[in-house]
Amino acid sequence: MLLFPLLSTALLFSTSITSALALALPAPRGLSAENLNPHMAEVRATRLEKPIISPPFPDNRVQEKDLQKELKPKRWVSMKWHSGYLPRMCLQHAEINHVDPSKFEVRYVYFEDCVAPWPVCRHVNAKESWRTILQTLGKVPVGMRQYASHIVILAEPHPEHWGAYVMGTVITVFPGSFTLGVLMHEFSHILDLVVLQPYVADLKEYPPGTSFSATRQWAEAIGNDTAVPTDYARTNVVEDFADVGRWAISDLVHRGGVGKYTRGWVGFKHQMYVYERLLCNIIFPKKEVCTIRAYDTSDPVAIGELQDGDAKPNGTLHGTMLNTFVVPPEANERIHMCYPGSGA
Ligand SMILES: [Zn+2]
Repeated sequence: MLLFPLLSTALLFSTSITSALALALPAPRGLSAENLNPHMAEVRATRLEKPIISPPFPDNRVQEKDLQKELKPKRWVSMKWHSGYLPRMCLQHAEINHVDPSKFEVRYVYFEDCVAPWPVCRHVNAKESWRTILQTLGKVPVGMRQYASHIVILAEPHPEHWGAYVMGTVITVFPGSFTLGVLMHEFSHILDLVVLQPYVADLKEYPPGTSFSATRQWAEAIGNDTAVPTDYARTNVVEDFADVGRWAISDLVHRGGVGKYTRGWVGFKHQMYVYERLLCNIIFPKKEVCTIRAYDTSDPVAIGELQDGDAKPNGTLHGTMLNTFVVPPEANERIHMCYPGSGA
């Protein structure tokens, strides 16, 4: 079903989601590991003593070229947001990265597969053009894309060469890393923490803020394998899960699966199959439309001098048919996962 022709209606007759369904995303406290629950802190500090699959996957650029062709592009329209205001989440990530908040352009982007828009905050000097950003974002499967509340694109490289990071439901990307491969990795972090939460809760043995990748179920999947998919996956189980996700998407959309890239894939097949079994129907919903949206209820923030006509924007999520997505409070406070910038 294409919702694109309905967009103008959605804009004109927008109805806000009932506040009962919507919870505000709390402010992140900071980036240090102190905010992690002790279990997550331990898990994040523990490297995986598994080799990389052999032969390894080809260069990420090979995957990127294929994903760009294989993931279905979605049409989009974007609306420039009111100048003088910034979504609070974008302001937070401007501050975290010591960037002047007045240097951001904000667009609300509607994709044809969702009645609710995505706020995208792009630094005016960002390497990636709006067109590149929105075309790429439009190829992210809607079942993943719907779990991001904001996308932030920066212009300056991270001092420690991160490519991107996710905090809660906000994905922030540094120059050169706005690629489908990196986005698959970052969205997988959100799925790991949020969408798979019921599996974590069922186990009844982990504190709030524990991701699925930090449970014994994921440990078992790794234990059944001889290897992990990439060198970066060896960082810890959380990063392993996200890189498994990155290649699992290729497995699902590349003709012949990941076996076409390397026969070494069997080395991490249990991990990949667990990821696919739990998330395939969520990432690629049958109707190919969004069913839920990550949502931020906090007021937009005025930045700099307001001009005449800079009316305060309505930060409300539009769309009557959507459930809003409730971010566990601990998620935005505790979760911060980065990705190296080299070879995005
Ligand atoms: Zn990561």
